[in-house]
Amino acid sequence: MAYPVVDEAKCVGCEECVDICPCDVFEMKNEKCVVERSEDCEECESCVETCEEGAIEMVEG
Ligand code: SF4
Ligand code: SF4
Repeated sequence: MAYPVVDEAKCVGCEECVDICPCDVFEMKNEKCVVERSEDCEECESCVETCEEGAIEMVEG
């Protein structure tokens, strides 16, 4: 089972990952996105592809 992690230092708060995730995994907090519901991730990797900052990567867990 894999889920995304966000490198907060790279995140510019564009919200693209929040918009594209079909599973509502992300939330915005203090102008950064955070992984709020990693258990709902279906591993489509759309968020990884969408983030132009390269701030999201998938980890096995
Ligand atoms: S798409 Fe990338 S830069 Fe934009 S909010 Fe998500 S993690 Fe941050
Ligand atoms: S891999 Fe897909 S389902 Fe999982 S957080 Fe990213 S966009 Fe959402």
